Amino acid sequence: MGDYKTIRKIAIIGGGPKGIYGFERLAAWFKVNPPTERIEIRIFNRTDSFAAGENYRVGQPSWLLINNPVGEVNMWPEEKPSPVVPLPLSLTEWVNRNENLHVTDQDYTSRAIVGRYLAHGFRLIASNLPDKVFGNYSVGEVTDIYKDSGKYALCMDTNGHEKSPPTELYDHVLLATGHPRNRETEEQLRYQSFANKHTSCGYIPYIYPVETAFKDLPPSCSIGMKGIGLTFVDAVLALTEGKGGVFKRDESEKLVYNPSGNEPKVIYPFSRSGLPMLPRRSVPGEMSKLKFFTKPELQKIQTRGKIDFKQQIWPLLSQDMIYAYYDIAMKEAGFPEGLSASTDFEDVQRTVAEYQQKCPGLKRFDPDTFLDPLQENSTFDGQTFHQYIHSQYNFYVKEARKGEFKSPLAAVTAVWKKASSLFCDLYSFGGFTPESQRYFDRSIRGKLNRVTFGPPVESAEKMYALVESGILNFGAARSPNLSMDEKSGAFILESGQRSLRHHVQYLVDARIPKMSLADDCSKLFRKLLNRGLITTFINRATQEAYQTGAVNITPEGFVIDNQGNVNSGIAVTGTPTEGITFDNDTLSRNRNNFVNSWAEYISKEYAKPETEHHAN
Ligand SMILES: Cc1cc2nc3c(=O)[nH]c(=O)nc-3n(C[C@H](O)[C@H](O)[C@H](O)COP(=O)(O)OP(=O)(O)OC[C@H]3O[C@@H](n4cnc5c(N)ncnc54)[C@H](O)[C@@H]3O)c2cc1C
Repeated sequence: MGDYKTIRKIAIIGGGPKGIYGFERLAAWFKVNPPTERIEIRIFNRTDSFAAGENYRVGQPSWLLINNPVGEVNMWPEEKPSPVVPLPLSLTEWVNRNENLHVTDQDYTSRAIVGRYLAHGFRLIASNLPDKVFGNYSVGEVTDIYKDSGKYALCMDTNGHEKSPPTELYDHVLLATGHPRNRETEEQLRYQSFANKHTSCGYIPYIYPVETAFKDLPPSCSIGMKGIGLTFVDAVLALTEGKGGVFKRDESEKLVYNPSGNEPKVIYPFSRSGLPMLPRRSVPGEMSKLKFFTKPELQKIQTRGKIDFKQQIWPLLSQDMIYAYYDIAMKEAGFPEGLSASTDFEDVQRTVAEYQQKCPGLKRFDPDTFLDPLQENSTFDGQTFHQYIHSQYNFYVKEARKGEFKSPLAAVTAVWKKASSLFCDLYSFGGFTPESQRYFDRSIRGKLNRVTFGPPVESAEKMYALVESGILNFGAARSPNLSMDEKSGAFILESGQRSLRHHVQYLVDARIPKMSLADDCSKLFRKLLNRGLITTFINRATQEAYQTGAVNITPEGFVIDNQGNVNSGIAVTGTPTEGITFDNDTLSRNRNNFVNSWAEYISKEYAKPETEHHAN
């Protein structure tokens, strides 16, 4: 046994879900590999919302729903060693026991409930820590980390006051800081300075927390809203339901919006494509597996060196989309076998051609058009585009309601989700050629997300009700020109063949920043970069290089410094690794799970007396 007074320290920067996942793994590993000395795990979080973080803050309104069904969320991993808590419940089990609600795995619950689940789990871990392991939870922002005597010193900012020089030193640091805070672009600064100059208008660069972001907006104002993704749905709900409006079903079960009088008169959403995300609904039953985008097929591709998305991946995904669409379309048209008897893709094509001959009136499906339903450069008259979205959105909602076993569209929508786990293995650590990764990141990923990871159908129905009520107007949605009119003090959206001009009083940026280390303005990342403790990941090949926005790490999650050395003292998890890994923006415990091996590594190190392992 070592000296009981010695305290070895581990710091977790960021006490959101991923930071707490790291905490959970440390606790589990220290139980199986008991430390020789006292251990302190200190978690730093900007606010006191430990575990829930900002995204699942317990105080947020109940109409902000999670984007995946309850059955997909479980804060406890399936891997060994088991969690230290006596009863690790999945979200479904926890809600049914604790929230006076009955939910199934297919339901969507509020983010606040998820926050309560995560916070409860965090308290359980904290009260079940193994012998000699202690937790310490600090509210404040870590603004700098530097090396001191082979360990790490942390600087902290509490309520804007930088604390005096740090006295505590940490052996290990986990960066779990979540979404970045990117510096404002020149364009954003121009909007802000225009809004500052004119009392008649306003600029809202970030919509969270939604309860306060829109509090100063007067009733019946007009809004231009940049972004038509999931954040747009939150913003629109905050401006309607959050302002006292009510969604109700009429006699025909149609959802209608009853205004409160406090909401905006009109919201003009806009983006490059102008297209909203496809809604989704989870249905019970065994999900079908992909037929072409399969592990054996992908293994063949991987052995041939860096991958080209267009040449090697998209053809397989397209085949699965075609299969998914026609399999359900045929079953729904009275051919109960669907495509299940097809042996390969040629066979699928043959069967589909026969089916199309028998049912010539049935809709044809093309994966490229599915991703890009409108030609990039096609322009529309604003009203025509609005009508197009109006009718399409109604169709999307109806198809999503049917679910993937009944709707060909919903079946295709599910393909990318099913593919994404295998895709993650291909993409990570520069698996694609630099050019192909750039192409995927910039041109394809957003389109695939649009058709796959849309809002729950409940929220989409509300969007549709607002289109019907005239509050949501897609008349300026497709690549409008955004300008500022000094004379009227209004923002102007101009779009369509006839360049119709829409004056709006408020401009809202309804997007969340993407990970880009170069643009991240948080003090911590700036300092870490300047000190050379972290670097940016660059995907390189002989002739090309592509700089992603991610922190450069090893497959174990350890940072690589500016000398090219692996530093096992600092590990990273979650969003800051987006670009070297894929799809970290979830509550998943399996996807890009670095914290298990990180915690194992530390527990083994601490199972020996400090004198044996203390290096540097
Ligand atoms: C509005 C919104 C809704 C979402 N909904 C879903 C959903 O329904 N389902 C889903 O799977 N995913 C969803 N996501 C994705 C989300 O990123 C993850 O689910 C999850 O929040 C990621 O956890 P995290 O701990 O990595 O990051 P975060 O949740 O962002 O937590 C990071 C924490 O670190 C703290 N922090 C950052 N820097 C410092 C510092 N220097 N010092 C101290 N503390 C710091 C922050 O304050 C924060 O509490 C959503 C994201 C957003 C933005």
